[in-house]
Amino acid sequence: MSRVTDSSGKWIGWAFFADLGNALALTFSYMFSKSVTMQYPDKEKWLPYSRYRGHHFLKRDEEGEIKCVACELCARICPCYCIEVVPYEDEKGNRRPAKFEIDMARCLFCGLCEDACPADAIALGQQYEFSSFSSHDLVVGRDDLLAKPGKANAGGAVVSACLNTQENVLVKTSKQQGYNWWRNIRRT
Ligand code: SF4
Ligand code: SF4
Repeated sequence: MSRVTDSSGKWIGWAFFADLGNALALTFSYMFSKSVTMQYPDKEKWLPYSRYRGHHFLKRDEEGEIKCVACELCARICPCYCIEVVPYEDEKGNRRPAKFEIDMARCLFCGLCEDACPADAIALGQQYEFSSFSSHDLVVGRDDLLAKPGKANAGGAVVSACLNTQENVLVKTSKQQGYNWWRNIRRT
């Protein structure tokens, strides 16, 4: 009986040793592989895939009119109740949003508002840099949502970028990725 216990103990010991060897081999292999550290945000930024659900934006139609028909479906489906829409009727008799606000501090970026919209008027873009020290700044209105960048043509890549301290344009990319949506990221 004790001989069986001895031999299984020996095998368990060897198994642990093999595991330790594997882990050390992995660690050493990383020492000689290419570094994946990104020089964020001064020199490089990650451009997410277009399926990424970042900051919302409102769309315009071909005539430049806001696509939103203020049906309030997005507000009703939102699980966080963070969208507020107040409709009005314009001079052509079209229903439009007089007020359209999203509280980004409450949003969980589920994308249900985008899915529910019957007018393809709202979407979640690739912009992810909008943190703020004040929760008031995170309540974004209609005009700001219209000015937000839409989806870039590319995604899933590191783009070279440099911080620029000039007014209005604080971040610019040296490579064109669809369009330069970094320009909307920070404001003075
Ligand atoms: S992404 Fe989800 S939580 Fe955020 S506003 Fe849309 S429905 Fe609401
Ligand atoms: S964004 Fe779409 S769902 Fe929301 S109010 Fe406008 S048209 Fe309706």
